[in-house]
Amino acid sequence: MIQIDPRTVILLGGVQSGLMSLVLYSLKRSYPASIKGIGEWAAALLLVFVGTGLATGHGRLHDFFSVSIARFLIVSGLYLAYVGSQRFFGVKPRVRAWMTLITGVALIQMWFTFVQPNYHARLALANILAGYLFAVHALLVFKQGASTFARGLTLGVLAAMSAIQWMRLVTSFIWPMGQDVFETAPHHVVYVTSLVFCILLLSVSMVLMATERLRTKLEHLAKHDSLTNALTRRHMNEACAQELERCRRHGRSMALLVMDLDHFKSINDSYGHQAGDLVLVNFVSMVNALLRQPDQLGRFGGEEFVALLPDTSLDEAILVAERIRAACALAEHPPACTVSIGVTTNQKDKDTVDTLLARADAAMYRAKASGRNRVETA
Ligand code: GH3
Ligand code: MG
Ligand code: MG
Repeated sequence: MIQIDPRTVILLGGVQSGLMSLVLYSLKRSYPASIKGIGEWAAALLLVFVGTGLATGHGRLHDFFSVSIARFLIVSGLYLAYVGSQRFFGVKPRVRAWMTLITGVALIQMWFTFVQPNYHARLALANILAGYLFAVHALLVFKQGASTFARGLTLGVLAAMSAIQWMRLVTSFIWPMGQDVFETAPHHVVYVTSLVFCILLLSVSMVLMATERLRTKLEHLAKHDSLTNALTRRHMNEACAQELERCRRHGRSMALLVMDLDHFKSINDSYGHQAGDLVLVNFVSMVNALLRQPDQLGRFGGEEFVALLPDTSLDEAILVAERIRAACALAEHPPACTVSIGVTTNQKDKDTVDTLLARADAAMYRAKASGRNRVETA
């Protein structure tokens, strides 16, 4: 039978944590600062690395370092991983309460190490604390919705880590305990090895979650205008092409609104560029509030916007456009601003995005020519 030495397993686990800590540190440096929590995850793995390093010195180092300090560092590291996840998901950590609990448990464990040595009591305390910590961490991820692979993996690993702790607590009353963490009994080796693997998987899942967040951010940047958060011209062109294809297949109608703010240059000239920017931002949130859920709003140029209204007839689209025009003219925040809108629907089978846009654009220019602050159709 293969003999697995727990000391070697712990040592390798510690080295893995150290390496994964480096990976996370380099991610933290290269990823945008708006992705929070990566630094805490890296520091967490560093603490586990140092703690396991001290633990493997057991026998050569004083127990104060190889048992008490080592355990304190490892548990603090596992807690810091939870803090990292809290910051990643924008949840406020309660560091003082947790560190009081962790320090309190460490002091009681020191009592059971030096004053009244009792390995079972020490281990039971460690299992209860870690089992609770992993369960709370798993619950945090669960509450955010484990809809992606990385989150699902994190949730699964944390749930497994908690289950292992509780099983170990129960079986410590059934199976022989041994004297310390380096016990070579098979069930003991299984617990130590599975915990080491779980920490590795957890660190991989942290990297995956951070990468997933970066991808989501980049996708958002590629799809949205940075000033107004409206969709980009490229995305709108794709969305229009898709909707046109759907209309063709199902014989439905779609509407396009081309909207251009009136005399916008004079708003900039009179109130400054920043006030102009604010008008654009307010316009987009006002229009978005008036549109339905499947409708999409994009920014095509400086103060020109396009709305795509699926499943909408010309009459319905005119009503929507009138509502936007009236809301814009009535907006209470100065500087006052009006909008001219051109409306069109897909009339011919051979309509393309370009022909639709050209018609709506022509209608919009007619609205401008007829005095602005109007809705025209084509
Ligand atoms: P019209 O009623 O004929 O549309 O007149 P207009 O002044 O709105 O049209 P014009 O095309 O002459 O000017 C558009 C102005 O929009 C010019 C440009 O400085 C301004 N603009 C474009 N992009 C931005 C932006 O991101 N922020 C601000 N504040 N102004 C912008
Ligand atoms: Mg304009
Ligand atoms: Mg314009």
